[in-house]
Amino acid sequence: MNKLRFQAIRDAVNRLPKPFQSDQKKSTLFASRVFTKKAMRTFLTKQAYKDVAEAIEKGTKINRTVADHVAASMKDWAISMGATHYTHWFQPLTGATAEKHDAFFDMDRNGDSLEYFDGSQLVQQEPDASSFPSGGIRNTFEARGYTAWDPSSPAFIYGSTLCIPTIFVSYTGQALDNKTPLLRALNAIDDAATQVAKFFDKNVTHVHATLGWEQEYFLIDKALAASRPDIMLAGRTLVGHPPPKGQQLDDHYFGSIPSRAINFMRELEYECMLLGIPVKTRHNEVAPNQFELAPIFEEANLAVDHNALLMDIMGKIASKHHFKVLLHEKPFSGINGSGKHNNWSLQTNTGVNLLSPGKTPMSNLQFLTFFVTTIKAVQNYESLVRSSVASAGNDHRLGANEAPPAIISVFIGSQLLAVLDDLENVSKGKLSPQEKTDLKLNVVGKIPDVLLDNTDRNRTSPFAFTGNKFEFRAAGSSQNCAIPMTVLNTIVAKQLIDFKAEVDILIKSKKLKKDDAIFNVLREYIKTTKNILFDGDGYSDSWAKEAARRGLSNLKKTPEALSVRMQDNVIDLFDSLGVMNPVEQKARYEIQLEQYVQCVEIESLVLENIAKNQVLPTAFKYQHMLVETASGLKQIYGDSFTKHAPVAMETIEQISTLTDALTSSCAALAKARTKANSMSKLYDRAQMYAKNVLPVFDNIREAADALELIVDDSTWPLAKYRELLFLR
Ligand code: ADP
Ligand code: MG
Repeated sequence: MNKLRFQAIRDAVNRLPKPFQSDQKKSTLFASRVFTKKAMRTFLTKQAYKDVAEAIEKGTKINRTVADHVAASMKDWAISMGATHYTHWFQPLTGATAEKHDAFFDMDRNGDSLEYFDGSQLVQQEPDASSFPSGGIRNTFEARGYTAWDPSSPAFIYGSTLCIPTIFVSYTGQALDNKTPLLRALNAIDDAATQVAKFFDKNVTHVHATLGWEQEYFLIDKALAASRPDIMLAGRTLVGHPPPKGQQLDDHYFGSIPSRAINFMRELEYECMLLGIPVKTRHNEVAPNQFELAPIFEEANLAVDHNALLMDIMGKIASKHHFKVLLHEKPFSGINGSGKHNNWSLQTNTGVNLLSPGKTPMSNLQFLTFFVTTIKAVQNYESLVRSSVASAGNDHRLGANEAPPAIISVFIGSQLLAVLDDLENVSKGKLSPQEKTDLKLNVVGKIPDVLLDNTDRNRTSPFAFTGNKFEFRAAGSSQNCAIPMTVLNTIVAKQLIDFKAEVDILIKSKKLKKDDAIFNVLREYIKTTKNILFDGDGYSDSWAKEAARRGLSNLKKTPEALSVRMQDNVIDLFDSLGVMNPVEQKARYEIQLEQYVQCVEIESLVLENIAKNQVLPTAFKYQHMLVETASGLKQIYGDSFTKHAPVAMETIEQISTLTDALTSSCAALAKARTKANSMSKLYDRAQMYAKNVLPVFDNIREAADALELIVDDSTWPLAKYRELLFLR
């Protein structure tokens, strides 16, 4: 009897839900552990508050005196809330979040204790975090990076620690984190979109990107997960036979949420509320034990921080409920994996959503401008958009008939397609008054009605327009949204800058009126963006062929997707907009390649261990039992015993065939890994892992999963899919 597995099953079955109830109203809880503007107003002097508010809104610098004020009030507030420590909270290139706690405590010269935290601790820290990946930006002799306060994301208290959101940069000013490039990209789109929005409304002085993410995840009983080295070390199952019942009945999707899961969600949502994460929606997803959580959208920088924070606290709260949260993109074979849709739009300081059609023809022309420009940006940089979601985990998902393909295309729906068709036929140069009236009344003017009917959402599209925002659906569930958000905001910023320049030229040199010029530029954009628009089934083989004909990339694996980042036009793009210089870009490229290699290498070692230490011995034991059965029968029946035990004999042979296959595949895996590791160039190594190492996984899995079906259930060492996915 396999003790570990059976104990885990017993524990899971007997586990009582840990009820979570809070009588506090959500609205009174919200952000009560955040140093919000309201808290600042209470704790800061009027002038200090004004300076900080301005810095948050306009990105201006905060001087040292104000920083001291803020620090003092932040400390008072935090201590009044029971905090004992503070930390600069940052997002290094590992993709996770990092923190190093210091106590609000120091000693004076007399050895007396005092509470200590001033502007210098708030504004800058040296975490000496030299073990984080830096892609060669920091040589070890000057290894120190420092974290610097980001006033645009408010400080919060988690547990008893005041967490101050920060950026992480080297002493030479190079960004060592995911957040710095994001902030720069958000600045770039603010400038570019404001310039274009001014064509329509002079009062616009700022535009911020908005992000509403939708987080998918699995919940697995902690004890069952602990019986599986693959889940514990790689976050996903590397072997495991699909259960007879998976997701074919679609009975989990939007079904009633299991009580253990609901209790976990309640506590998670409660914590989110305290921390100011505006979570709103929860539901079962398609696969058994798969769920989704979505907030109300926010300014993109804050939304990115909130998602990073959420991923961290999910794990902690799950643990209290004896769950393990799986954020891996493909934890189980044969059922859906998890993604993280990024809903994105642009909002002006005047409160207008630039991707939402308005009430007047002019506001609709504004909508069309931002809508078409975004499509054009995606068309120009489709492979970069693909590369922004590249990871070993996500490779299992993209294009696997459950998630958008690795081919990037844009879905806009038939009605908007018809509007673009009409706009494409606008005359060149100056428009006649009749044509203009016609356009305004019959094309642009009709958009709001049109969108109300635009319900035919295409679920297979990686980049879909959904009425008042674009939804980028290819991001992976474990990913830090900063990377896709940096890419998306940068490419759209670039296109908006080009758009503005083209319109200005037509106004100045061709003496066109502003709206004539805009129509003219949009017409050209529409003509050149047809390749990226696709309304059909993104999962179909015919689309892959059609996309190749259109010249769209189909980068199935991470190494080739990452190589896009090193193309000259991409390097120039980020450099020219001040988002990342070439050194910072190369560093990220190398770090992500390295992460890919390490991830597949670890998985291959875990798989080999499981095969050799768990599957093989179990199979041999069972085979030995069969051999004993057969020899017992031989004693009874003599040489004719095979007639009496055909199944035993057959199974003995099957096990021999499968254990041979398993052993030789393990040897092939080790050989492929050694060869890959001998490659001196990182890119070649990554390619080897993708092309030579990963495919061997399938052979091992095939043999192991076949053995799982043959071998006595009571001796199998690993929790099975039916237990992982259906015990709750
Ligand atoms: P779905 O059908 O994909 O579930 P929803 O209408 O429920 O779509 O919205 C999904 C997400 O879109 C939510 O997280 C929501 O906050 C976000 N969202 C809505 N409007 C915007 C916007 N203007 N900008 C960014 N995100 C938005
Ligand atoms: Mg969605």
